[in-house]
Amino acid sequence: MTGHRVQETKEKISREVILPETITIQELANRMSERAVDVIRMLMKQGQMVKITDVVDADTAQLIAEDLGHTVRRVSESDVEEGLFDTVDAPESLQPRPAVVTIMGHVDHGKTSLLDAIRKTAVVSGEAGGITQHIGAYQVTSPSGSKITFIDTPGHAAFTAMRARGAKVTDIVVLVVAADDGVMPQTAEAIAHAKAAGVPIIVAINKIDKPDAKPERVRSELLQHEIQVESLGGETLEVEVSATKKLNLDKLLELIALQSELLDLTADPTRPAEGTVVEAKLDRGRGPVATVLVQRGTLHIGEIVVAGAEWGRVRALINDTGANVDEAGPSVPVEVLGFNGTPEAGDRLAVVENEARAREITDYRQRQKREKAAARSATMRGSLEQMMSQVKSTGRKEFPLIIKGDVSGSVEAIIGALEKVGNDEVQARVIHAGAGGINESDVTLAETSGAAIIAFNVRANKEARDAAAQAGIEIRYYNIIYDLVDDVKKAMSGLLAPINRETMLGNALILEIFAVSKVGKVAGCRVTDGNVERGQHVRLIRDNVVIHEGKLATLNRFKDAVNTVVAGQECGMSFENYQDMRAGDVIECYRVEVIQRSL
Ligand code: GDP
Ligand code: MG
Repeated sequence: MTGHRVQETKEKISREVILPETITIQELANRMSERAVDVIRMLMKQGQMVKITDVVDADTAQLIAEDLGHTVRRVSESDVEEGLFDTVDAPESLQPRPAVVTIMGHVDHGKTSLLDAIRKTAVVSGEAGGITQHIGAYQVTSPSGSKITFIDTPGHAAFTAMRARGAKVTDIVVLVVAADDGVMPQTAEAIAHAKAAGVPIIVAINKIDKPDAKPERVRSELLQHEIQVESLGGETLEVEVSATKKLNLDKLLELIALQSELLDLTADPTRPAEGTVVEAKLDRGRGPVATVLVQRGTLHIGEIVVAGAEWGRVRALINDTGANVDEAGPSVPVEVLGFNGTPEAGDRLAVVENEARAREITDYRQRQKREKAAARSATMRGSLEQMMSQVKSTGRKEFPLIIKGDVSGSVEAIIGALEKVGNDEVQARVIHAGAGGINESDVTLAETSGAAIIAFNVRANKEARDAAAQAGIEIRYYNIIYDLVDDVKKAMSGLLAPINRETMLGNALILEIFAVSKVGKVAGCRVTDGNVERGQHVRLIRDNVVIHEGKLATLNRFKDAVNTVVAGQECGMSFENYQDMRAGDVIECYRVEVIQRSL
């Protein structure tokens, strides 16, 4: 008997119970360290007959857990994925790792040329042997000896798409701007993407060999995008280069090394690997091939990996020079062979302990993928109205927008007009704006940042339309600035919290208290000023202190219920859910109106 009691007090430890959307009785009991029969008994009391293997939803599970004195933490994704990513590295195992760099910029400004030039110079001067194949990422050694990893993302959209899926791959963005062309729409786009990701930018002013190169112009144009380079007194590192003449490439690498030092990049190479799929393809001879950037830990041959909805046992690892390797550590790009299916670029990769776990995760994800596809066709999100309610529920008071217009003049005018719309409670935030049609990159950016897309005298191209339809992002088209601003204003007004406006009606003095059967206590009063109305709000004031706030339940004159009693008349009043009134108290009667504000 005594032993039992001791055990009982022990069991009363309150646990934090992690609850997925659904859970079996058995698992729920395990997580609470309670007996499954007790859980079943509780459900039976509520009229539910369940077996230990039955599944209950999170709401039911939460009630049970809280009844038993535990706290719960609901997880939206199935906890199949719990602990798969982002377990914190042990601080004592952290070691410096190479920076991961993405080159971005306007088309034809020399991204590919620069990537190739760096690769060739560095490979020739650094490692022996030639390049046997091209993979989507490679590593070079800077003149001072630090390693740098470049990844070749196919476009800005891909950059943000990766970010959208939780993969923060890039540490530094090299922004290529052609000195003979200056800041162009995709330059601005690249800046927006980098800023949204919070990644530092290094400006590479390219094509400096050209006779019509005007690097000064590039610098001043960048100012308009809030990029102030060092030579203009700012903080952004910059270098003038020529990809074709191979000018200043070493200097660029040194700047990258410098910037990485500032970032103090570290990772734990001893833990199981985590990484991101940079690109993936189905190769005829080799099967599914994924180019993976390892981000933490070390990936080894023979390990079981999952990426997206696919898994496999690592059969071979091939590095950027085409050599077979046994392992790949942090910031190292490798081709991974051995997947059972082809994962997608942007999928995060993780090593798991066994095949069963890999199957559990990928089964769940494949199911989820199917459900998402079904749900996507059923509901569209991203319309202004829905966005409004989303923003509301998250309590954020910024209204993110992407604005594209026919000419930069109109875009500026729109931004100017929108800036005037907000107040300190709600404000339009222009994530990205520019001249030109809506492209796929705008849509991905909208998707990640939860922004609405506003098109002024421009249209979306086919890829963008498809992507928007896929993601359920609404693109709003306008040709009159006033209409545009008015619509945004309306949507933003919905974010303002409504205010309650009180109108004073009148006061009454309590003369005596009666007990009336069924009704309870009734206050016999005289209205001293204004009037009182049935059903309105009241405050009970005793010695100038408010002791109750509520509503009037009944209002009578003699035996009759009335709607209003005016000053000078006597009446009987009773309150909703309140009995403790006394003679001498003052009843203040007022009306409350809920007023929806607008901007
Ligand atoms: P991307 O679209 O940004 O990848 O640009 P590319 O690398 O394909 O380059 C576009 C064009 O600019 C090609 O014809 C290159 O040869 C040329 N180009 C790139 N860099 C330089 C440079 O530094 N100097 C000169 N003169 N031309 C360059
Ligand atoms: Mg290119």
